[in-house]
Amino acid sequence: MTAITADQLLTRVRDLLAAHPPADTGRADFLRARFDAGLAWVHYPQGLGGLGAPRSLQAVVDAELEAAGAPDNEPRRIGIGLGMAAPTILAYGTEEQKQRFLRPLWVGEEVWCQLFSEPGAGSDLAALGTRAVRESGTGDWIVDGQKVWTSSAHTARWAILIARTDPALPKHQGITYFLCDMHAPGVEVRPLRQITGEAEFNEVFLTGVRIPDSHRLGAVGQGWAVARTTLMNERVSIGGMRLPREGGMIAPVAAAWRERPALRTHALHQRLLQLWVQAEVARLTAERLRQQLAAGQPGPEGSGMKLTFARLNQEISGLEVELLGEDGLLYEDWTMRRPELVDFTGRDAGYRYLRAKGNSIEGGTSEILLNIVAERVLGLPAEPRDDKDLAWKDLAR
Ligand SMILES: Cc1cc2nc3c(=O)[nH]c(=O)nc-3n(C[C@H](O)[C@H](O)[C@H](O)COP(=O)(O)OP(=O)(O)OC[C@H]3O[C@@H](n4cnc5c(N)ncnc54)[C@H](O)[C@@H]3O)c2cc1C
Repeated sequence: MTAITADQLLTRVRDLLAAHPPADTGRADFLRARFDAGLAWVHYPQGLGGLGAPRSLQAVVDAELEAAGAPDNEPRRIGIGLGMAAPTILAYGTEEQKQRFLRPLWVGEEVWCQLFSEPGAGSDLAALGTRAVRESGTGDWIVDGQKVWTSSAHTARWAILIARTDPALPKHQGITYFLCDMHAPGVEVRPLRQITGEAEFNEVFLTGVRIPDSHRLGAVGQGWAVARTTLMNERVSIGGMRLPREGGMIAPVAAAWRERPALRTHALHQRLLQLWVQAEVARLTAERLRQQLAAGQPGPEGSGMKLTFARLNQEISGLEVELLGEDGLLYEDWTMRRPELVDFTGRDAGYRYLRAKGNSIEGGTSEILLNIVAERVLGLPAEPRDDKDLAWKDLAR
């Protein structure tokens, strides 16, 4: 089959717009029709929101739809589903799972969260202790354990979950990956308040949660390989966001510099220029990474991008608070809220400064990402590990 061309894609977009004029079509109806036309993520297979087209052609579709005033699928609100659950389901899911989950995920009718981290298993995620035990007779899995730092658990309908299914095996081998219904009996979500004052993430307690075997993703005991697909995509989706020139965190700092000349000093000017250039280099590097991705799954390069994103966000938001002097110390609202998304640029400098602290922790800490770059990109010797062959149940805790 010959690959679809940009012109053929544009014809499809125009047909979609003619059949479902955005001005007269409900948001969700338009998005469902877009998915069914294969224009959601064009590189996905036909019938699953795509056309098997080169990923680079997505930009052609997006630009045409944006110019026509079509609604988007609010990707920032459904980031975990789009950036992490979807590519993992596509890579490891059964046909039934792909048909069941991808459309409502993309349309945003079902929000997803990630039940990976645990109180004793963050950077060392493979040490996790949440248990999934198979019930004889039904073949269902019964899950017990605690997860933590679960962004969006309070709005999520589904979760990607990893749990231990064989404690007698070494820690990376006895893990299985599941799709967990967040409305199932036994799932309890409790807010965790952050340094920003908001509770954007949660603790999640799982008590006797029943998961049918049809919601297992990948083979029993192969969950670590499945989770690595999620984690590599997570780093790209955090670090590789598409931004306009002078977009993202550098935008409000540059605006403050232009609009408030009284704040200027030579030293601050030098720092702003340096960070502006670094932000632009990071933006273009992310663009290159996205183009490389068109050729396959993300590799460890995404870790470098995520590292840069975290470092720059913290430096830029620090400069902004300094630049604004006393105004930089104002904080708009400490009311405990449970937001649906992280809004970096629509908020004040104090919020950006505090929220950016989490950037070097979420999605893998900077220290761990440096290890990945050292070992898997630069080929330096691996960290010594003495727990690779020990059964998980025998590990010191
Ligand atoms: C804003 C935010 C949102 C999050 N959202 C989610 C979510 O939705 N779902 C989810 O599952 N998790 C989520 N997390 C959790 C996040 O992935 C973990 O916090 C992270 O992996 C670090 O784990 P930890 O907190 O247990 O720290 P630890 O693993 O205890 O690490 C503590 C420190 O030790 C360092 N360290 C540990 N091991 C090494 C090593 N071998 N070499 C060098 N340094 C090391 C770490 O880098 C870190 O600085 C979120 C975290 C944040 C901050």
